[in-house]
Amino acid sequence: MPSEQCLGRWRKRVARGAARKRRSAIAVPPLSSYLACSIGVQKHMASETTLPTAGFGTTSSAPYDLAVIGGGINGCGIARDAAGRGASVVLFEKDDLASATSSRSTKLIHGGLRYLEHYKFRLVREALMERERLWAIAPHIIRPLRFVLPHHKGLRPAWLLRLGLFLYDHIGGRKLLPATRTLDLAHDPAGRPLKDDKARAFEYSDCWVEDARLVVLNAMDAAVRGAAIHTRTRVAAAIREDGLWRLTAEGPQGRFDIWAKALINAAGPWVGEVLNGVIHTNAKAGVRMVQGSHIVVPKLYEHDRSYIFQNADGRIVFAIPYEQDFTLIGTTDRDYHGDPAEVVATPDEIAYLCAAASEYFRQPVTPESVIWTYSGVRPLYDDGASKAQEATRDYVLTLDAPEGEAPLLSVFGGKITTYRRLAEAAIAKLAPLAPWAARAEWTVAGALPGGDFPVGGFDTLVGEIAAAYPWLERRTATRLVRAYGTRARDILGDAKSVVDLGRHFGADLYEREVRYLMKAEWARRAQDVLWRRGKLGLRLSKAESEALDDFMQDAASV
Ligand SMILES: Cc1cc2nc3c(=O)[nH]c(=O)nc-3n(C[C@H](O)[C@H](O)[C@H](O)COP(=O)(O)OP(=O)(O)OC[C@H]3O[C@@H](n4cnc5c(N)ncnc54)[C@H](O)[C@@H]3O)c2cc1C
Repeated sequence: MPSEQCLGRWRKRVARGAARKRRSAIAVPPLSSYLACSIGVQKHMASETTLPTAGFGTTSSAPYDLAVIGGGINGCGIARDAAGRGASVVLFEKDDLASATSSRSTKLIHGGLRYLEHYKFRLVREALMERERLWAIAPHIIRPLRFVLPHHKGLRPAWLLRLGLFLYDHIGGRKLLPATRTLDLAHDPAGRPLKDDKARAFEYSDCWVEDARLVVLNAMDAAVRGAAIHTRTRVAAAIREDGLWRLTAEGPQGRFDIWAKALINAAGPWVGEVLNGVIHTNAKAGVRMVQGSHIVVPKLYEHDRSYIFQNADGRIVFAIPYEQDFTLIGTTDRDYHGDPAEVVATPDEIAYLCAAASEYFRQPVTPESVIWTYSGVRPLYDDGASKAQEATRDYVLTLDAPEGEAPLLSVFGGKITTYRRLAEAAIAKLAPLAPWAARAEWTVAGALPGGDFPVGGFDTLVGEIAAAYPWLERRTATRLVRAYGTRARDILGDAKSVVDLGRHFGADLYEREVRYLMKAEWARRAQDVLWRRGKLGLRLSKAESEALDDFMQDAASV
């Protein structure tokens, strides 16, 4: 969590200074469907649970087709894909959706240039192919980003960088993203914030994603396709019984059992704990936890491109424009052996990132200038690599399906970028065992909620919202479209002035948005709204955040 002192300092500073409609193969259901699902069997609006109307799973005679443990990107992506193929699906998340690794990434939809050095051509190609596909299904939360890679004498030679970027441009089906070009840093604005010793740079394309929102949008779409999403509900036990899985879950509804024909363990850093402590298999966990931390500082430069810096230790560090007023710098790569729920950026990591950025920027980056940090644990497959940064980022799916018993599939590793492909691969593994899993793949063409507008249509949509609600500040219209896409209209509804948005909680957050997040997106606490559904936590004071939390708890209990 951010240091309140640092955020307070920053806030004061800011206060002072202050075409073609893409038609998806599968229609995006209207908001009312999400709200109906969210309300589920409970009458009040703030349900942690969405239950399908058909009443699957509560007895062994009508089991779910699939149970998923884990509401990160992989669990939610799998649940959505399976529900879209007609499976009855239940998903359990012990905390909030995206509360673990999937909200703590660098937020890039990228091939991973450096993985080419490790000859991971399949991984890089698959990830590169996903960039434009994901951008097309979620053009509100995904956008193209250009990366400036300064050439540094003494590190990787220019010919190697050129070769890597040539492959990067050509092996991944790039159609819309601009190609690589060479920059003269003496004349390009990208050179201005950098020290003078870098003369030349390469500039290439990848994409940015609001990672936690990608998770929530997958869960929303899974729910509207009939999946039961239980947040804040931990799977405490899973046992095989009469050819089925019997899961015991604990959450706001108390302790209850459900039955399912197949189980997917997508518990991220807890995948091993679920295997050993929840399912009680003897399987070797095979997970290597690698910590990565980021720092956020007041913005270091004015243009909208990112930097990718090579370090003398062989690692790379990104500096990315963040939330209009900040620069995000990350990440570290070190083995982690503690409780994944407790991971925080250490002073060493903060110092490392500051030093790495200061090697390149004229303006030194110091730990004192850090206003927020976050840290996550990559749940990588343990391939025996000696260094943390060399451990494979590829995903590994293991299937345990003894004759006559219900199958278990466990997910190791992966990236946000490849979650959709991972879901397809996971379901393909179940295809010989489950008829629904053999149905056609569909997610490549299915827009995520709010993403039913053309790529490149972002500014037009902001313009439409601004014209329909002329009293709304442009900055707020942009933020709402970035977060909710076409569904921004559902939040603003019939509001005729800012007064109609209800109670003001700080920054540009109003009651209507909060109620929408509670109804449609499983938000229950201020943290869910401020740090996962968006990043307004950077702008609200501690008192404002507490007031929001009180409001949400009251609203949930009505
Ligand atoms: C520092 C860092 C930077 C990264 N940058 C990028 C990037 O730029 N691009 C990219 O593509 N990838 C990136 N990644 C990788 C990516 O973030 C992860 O691969 C991905 O988020 C993993 O998702 P997951 O669903 O497997 O795990 P998680 O998001 O951790 O989800 C697992 C969920 O399971 C839940 N759970 C665990 N046990 C139980 C239980 N018993 N019952 C119910 N629920 C349970 C947990 O609460 C958790 O929410 C990065 C990762 C890190 C750490």
